[in-house]
Amino acid sequence: MTIANKTVLITGASSGIGESSARLLASKGARVVLGARRTDKLKEIVDSIAQDGGQAAYYKLDVTDPQQNKDFVVFAKEQFGSVDVMFLNAGLMPSSPLSALKTDEWNQMVDVNLKGVLNGIAAVLPEFVGQKSGQFITTSSVAGLKAYPNGAVYGATKWAVRDLMEVLRMESAMEGTHIRTATIYPAAIQTELLSTITDPGAKEAMNQTYDSYQITPDRVASVVAFAIDQPEDTNVSEFTIGPTIQP
Ligand code: NDP
Repeated sequence: MTIANKTVLITGASSGIGESSARLLASKGARVVLGARRTDKLKEIVDSIAQDGGQAAYYKLDVTDPQQNKDFVVFAKEQFGSVDVMFLNAGLMPSSPLSALKTDEWNQMVDVNLKGVLNGIAAVLPEFVGQKSGQFITTSSVAGLKAYPNGAVYGATKWAVRDLMEVLRMESAMEGTHIRTATIYPAAIQTELLSTITDPGAKEAMNQTYDSYQITPDRVASVVAFAIDQPEDTNVSEFTIGPTIQP
């Protein structure tokens, strides 16, 4: 089974990379289930997918709540009968220097970018183990590969996600559950991501970077589609993607 007829759950689907992925996968015949907190945005996207002939549903999801993640999976099964891919994409990036001690924002990033991914794994892993198939895809970041000033906590959460995916892949191989995992490391992508930065210096530096180069989120969506589209016995693990002119 390739993309068509797979049920793909997407967290952080109300904008940016998640929204683009939902639209692209639905256009290729997947049944997409969109999760995020802004239901007005989700409804708009789902309606527009349906107008284009795609199959989509949405669920109000805060990834920091373990029970909501479980309910998201139950909802997807009720809607479409199966759960085949979990795209753990929700994230935020309130960058700042460590010396600014924005500890609330540190916690927020750990809660959404890391614990949110763990909650998603816990919600769907029993399903994947039981059916001996399934795929996790996560949006890490180039910040999960390379350290940079103002990006300490964000980067730490994104490094962690890489580890989770790789260990899941290895354990699944050892346990014979055929679960696939892929990690995507985007560079500058044109989305709403910078909106959560409150530190003035970090905001200016990040705005300068994103003003110099960024590509649209549909480019990342095509990587998501590529990972899903591989034969079931084939795991593609890691993708770095960014503008050609970004050093
Ligand atoms: P956006 O800000 O456009 O999207 C972020 C998404 O995360 C939104 O849909 C938002 O939905 C959702 N989200 C945030 N907090 C929560 C929460 N508690 N529960 C559920 N959903 C939540 O940015 P991107 O599309 O860029 O971000 C997607 C992923 O890509 C993130 O993990 C980000 O770190 C990563 N990334 C982005 C890069 C870029 O340059 N844009 C580069 C590298 C990685 P809502 O507010 O409705 O809940």
